[in-house]
Amino acid sequence: MEQIEPVITGSRVELQLLTTLKCNLRCSYCALGTGNVLNSQKQVTYSVEHLKNFIETHLSDHEVYISLYGGEPTLNTGFILELMETLPFSRFNLQTNGTLLDRLPESILDRLSNVMVSLDGGRGTTDGYRGRGVYEKVFHNMGIIRPKLSGTLTARVTWWSGDTCFEELDELVRQFDYLYFQFAQDAGAYAPESVVKKKAVLAQLIRQFFKNGTFYPVVPIMGIVRNLVLPGRGNELTSGLSQCRVSTNLLNVMPDGKIYPCPDMMYRPELLQGDIVENWVQKSVLQPHPDMPCDSCSALDFCKRNCMKNLYLAYVVHDEEWKRNVTEPTCDLIRFMGEEVARYQPHAWYANAPLSFRNKVANAEVYEFCEVMP
Ligand code: SF4
Ligand code: SF4
Repeated sequence: MEQIEPVITGSRVELQLLTTLKCNLRCSYCALGTGNVLNSQKQVTYSVEHLKNFIETHLSDHEVYISLYGGEPTLNTGFILELMETLPFSRFNLQTNGTLLDRLPESILDRLSNVMVSLDGGRGTTDGYRGRGVYEKVFHNMGIIRPKLSGTLTARVTWWSGDTCFEELDELVRQFDYLYFQFAQDAGAYAPESVVKKKAVLAQLIRQFFKNGTFYPVVPIMGIVRNLVLPGRGNELTSGLSQCRVSTNLLNVMPDGKIYPCPDMMYRPELLQGDIVENWVQKSVLQPHPDMPCDSCSALDFCKRNCMKNLYLAYVVHDEEWKRNVTEPTCDLIRFMGEEVARYQPHAWYANAPLSFRNKVANAEVYEFCEVMP
């Protein structure tokens, strides 16, 4: 008998809800700017009842958790409150630019398992991309919400600039519970001198991670170590496919209810995966493809096809410029990270690490809220 492949792999599914495509900032590299997605849908046009019905129809066997995404999701707190009331068993993660966090009511802060704050590095870099005063405002707001928050605070850095230095990222590690960084998806980020500088900073971060003493909570390094030392854990929630879940268990819902696997490619009609209002969903189109080079790549064991968007554009759509200017330099940086991590013998490090370090590497909840790999 023919086996029907499940739409969602595993027992958990992340619904990443774009609660508005409005944003109060205009970051110079925003991925939603592609295909004019940003600002295209200002209001959610499906109801929470539609969403509940969709979950009951398609996801009743799964643990459904919610990431609140935008645009800037804190511009639509009414919808967030309605969601929290309707889905009392769900975990919530907030992805925010941090500038409006001081306005969030305690009833929302109480329910957030994680707040992911977007920054670009230190003050100069962040204010350069996001606007003057943004860095200071975010830190001011963090001071206000910290005492009211039971969940974790994670800095999310889109690593664009070659001038982003170790000290800037190290400061974020100190101020937040976790630092997650993702290599920018923009050709301008990979001039040869910028790649050299990024490698030097990566080497410093990795050296710091393996230094004895306090735990150094940098997610992509934690994820690489986890995937190498505990491959079963790395494969657990995503069947060993892309760690950002786009191939297996991530559904991005646009304000009009249309579902796509990757939040950066909601302008590509061939990737449409479902619809909350029409109440249907199918398996993600973003799957490994024979033309992708990952099966023969030395990094596959830990990288697990880092970014399916980059792979899809380079090897399925055959966007040669994207391949040369974004996908290949990113893969080069990933392989470099693997080589650096290997120099510190991660298996031996883990075997001798205190239990609290091992628990974080193996089980950190933050893995479920970010892409894990950079
Ligand atoms: S580094 Fe690139 S080619 Fe290698 S596994 Fe990762 S995504 Fe695939
Ligand atoms: S890491 Fe995953 S979610 Fe992020 S852009 Fe790439 S494919 Fe999309």
